[in-house]
Amino acid sequence: MKRINYSGISKEFFKKNFKIFSSEGKFILLVIPTSKIYSIDKPTEDFIMKIRSSSSVENAIKELLNNYEENEIKEILNEIKQVVKIAKDIKPEYKGEITINSLSLFISQSCNLSCIYCYGNKGTYNESNVKFMNFTTAKAAVDFLIKKRDPKNKHIAIVFFGGEPLLNKKLIFKIVKYTNKKCAENNLIPHYSISTNCTLIHGDKQLIDLIRENNFSLCISIDGPPQIHNVNRPFKNEKGSYREVQKGINYLHEEKIHRLRARATYVIGNGHLRDIVFHLNKMGFDRVYVEEVSNLTDKRFSDITNFNYLESEYNKLFSEYKKNILNKKTYAFKVSYFDEILRMIHKGGVKFYYCGAGRTFLSVSSKGEFYPCHRFVGNEDMKVGNVFTGLNEEKLREFINRICVSNRKSCLKCWVRFLCAGGCAYENFVESGSIDGLDILNCIKRRFLLRKFILLYSSLPKEIKDNL
Ligand code: SF4
Ligand code: SF4
Repeated sequence: MKRINYSGISKEFFKKNFKIFSSEGKFILLVIPTSKIYSIDKPTEDFIMKIRSSSSVENAIKELLNNYEENEIKEILNEIKQVVKIAKDIKPEYKGEITINSLSLFISQSCNLSCIYCYGNKGTYNESNVKFMNFTTAKAAVDFLIKKRDPKNKHIAIVFFGGEPLLNKKLIFKIVKYTNKKCAENNLIPHYSISTNCTLIHGDKQLIDLIRENNFSLCISIDGPPQIHNVNRPFKNEKGSYREVQKGINYLHEEKIHRLRARATYVIGNGHLRDIVFHLNKMGFDRVYVEEVSNLTDKRFSDITNFNYLESEYNKLFSEYKKNILNKKTYAFKVSYFDEILRMIHKGGVKFYYCGAGRTFLSVSSKGEFYPCHRFVGNEDMKVGNVFTGLNEEKLREFINRICVSNRKSCLKCWVRFLCAGGCAYENFVESGSIDGLDILNCIKRRFLLRKFILLYSSLPKEIKDNL
């Protein structure tokens, strides 16, 4: 016993930083601070569990010596010490300087649809006095972006957002022209995208040329087949918008516009996730995202009892996705959000922030006010400056620090903390009243999904893992 050196090993560390899964007689270890996954054998599993449950490490080792050879224990200890060392060295990456490489411009705070779950109060974001951004404001936003970008990064991105941004098409043409000129002067590379409901695209050849020449990517809001989409996303006169959206998408295909992303919002009880994804895949999107309305405008969407229903929806979606991963060549079922989770597990990266809100991107309202992200637009308390008067860096830094998962008290004991990174600040805010609070339904869903993905990943053959 004296010859076994267990310095650096503590019960608390094991409890806080290791999570073990078992499935079909196999054991998988997640090292929480590194997000790395290891297949472990029974003796290693015994070792970890014993240290977690015994009164001290010394007692645990004494008990383990009843079943294992001293050399076996030393070998496990050496391996575990390496893992512990790496885990202890992980620190948050945010260093305090603020650089912004992407802006969402709310060029229209008005919309031609009346979606049942809209968090932006029919596209107005509760600001009815300025419907459309003007060119002076847009120019000031572009100048800000060029000045505030990370000097090491030559790429800047502009997202045209709303409401429905295509209600203010003319401004898009002007901004692109201005940004391209500024980028040429500053040796930068601009990237553009539009987040649109796709009802105002069909037949607009000029817009298509702009999209093509500037390699735009398009994020199209479409909720699935007509019977689902039309309930969720009607025009203001209550007529479903599916036909118009479909016409727009077909037109983009005819014009050979690629880089189309579908963003579906799932309303619990309106159709099935799997059917929605099948439909969107069939429509020829490069990437497909689907996420349920979890809260926001209507509390019935966030009722915790809905999780049983959601669980069965996600189980079906997941098993289809699994088939696809295992038979990629013959089966096409894209769920981009799932691909991203799997890739994240594969890379074993540590996430301190759920998204880049405030750190890499900001949103600018029609009036020119800065917000950490598009969903906070219109919330006075979350305003962090103005394109004309400048960015309130102190306030923004406070926001960034508060959403960093290592500073979120409510996440400290959660085993998915460095994969989840604390969830969406906006949803946390809506559900709990604070950006550092919790959106419980999402927490349950994330733990449920990540467990499934960790097991899936561990079961994948090496050649599939290498191609993720
Ligand atoms: S699942 Fe919930 S508690 Fe866990 S890290 Fe994410 S936000 Fe925090
Ligand atoms: S805070 Fe939430 S809504 Fe805003 S960018 Fe991040 S994930 Fe998206």
